[in-house]
Amino acid sequence: METLFTKIINKEIPADIIFEDDLSLVFKDINPQAPTHLLIIPKKPIPKLSDASEEDKELLGHLMWVAGEVARDLGLDETFRLVTNNGAKAGQSVFHLHLHLLSGRPLQWPPG
Ligand code: AMP
Repeated sequence: METLFTKIINKEIPADIIFEDDLSLVFKDINPQAPTHLLIIPKKPIPKLSDASEEDKELLGHLMWVAGEVARDLGLDETFRLVTNNGAKAGQSVFHLHLHLLSGRPLQWPPG
């Protein structure tokens, strides 16, 4: 099923894209929860992390690598949080796998 993020990947709706390669896209969250709030998504439409299959292992690793690269490029490498909400009860609202990268303010633990 096509989500909002597929439309962003296909450039059918605008987004503030800060990184793109053949497998992934990184753009600013429209409703930021921290001074820096990025979404790291695969171009492959996997609904959520628990839907990923064994063949996605490399892709999942790639997303983590991209997160680290982008954080380094933005000078965030010392302090950021990477999180994925898996399922509606965990707060997931867009069913296209994404990692939230949050930085720029103190981050509490445990999260809400
Ligand atoms: P989640 O609640 O974990 O599924 O996260 C979905 C995120 O997508 C939320 O933080 C939203 O603010 C964000 N979002 C929704 N629509 C857009 C959009 N058009 N551009 C950028 N971020 C969006």
